[in-house]
Amino acid sequence: MTKPTLLVSACLLGQPVRYDGQSKPLSSPQWTTLRQRFDLVPVCPECLGGLPTPRPAAEIVGGNGNDALAGIACVQTAEGDDVSAAFISGAELALNTALQHGCVQALLKANSPSCGNRQIYDGSFSSTLRDGQGVAASLLERHGIAVWNEEEIDRLLDSEPPQTV
Ligand code: SF4
Repeated sequence: MTKPTLLVSACLLGQPVRYDGQSKPLSSPQWTTLRQRFDLVPVCPECLGGLPTPRPAAEIVGGNGNDALAGIACVQTAEGDDVSAAFISGAELALNTALQHGCVQALLKANSPSCGNRQIYDGSFSSTLRDGQGVAASLLERHGIAVWNEEEIDRLLDSEPPQTV
């Protein structure tokens, strides 16, 4: 039987694509369980947007991912470089990947300015979280794709997926 597809942050699948050149791999049992239920589609929006690895850490300043997509907030490095265009381009390409593979759900890394689905850092570079979504998570949810994070895998496995995107 064909398994449903699941878009997954590449860093959660062990790919060393984070800003610091590291990954944040899921535990082996989590990975095994997900692979039994889904065909996993790895994606790193920041890499798709053309950013190098490693790269300076970035945060959304003046709003959340939706605000960045609307052009009323920007994604900046601590040095003040505006990387909004790369984040938005990467989010669009991540959405295209999801649509091409028929993903109606995504499992994305919590708290990332791209992938965070509940909280993001507040733009002060002081390790302070605020409610809100990253740029890619916002764009995916805007298009009907349910976004979960790595703390919500049990809920993902128990959920009824959206029927269509
Ligand atoms: Fe992981 Fe997403 Fe950051 Fe890429 S953009 S390193 S997938 S959290």
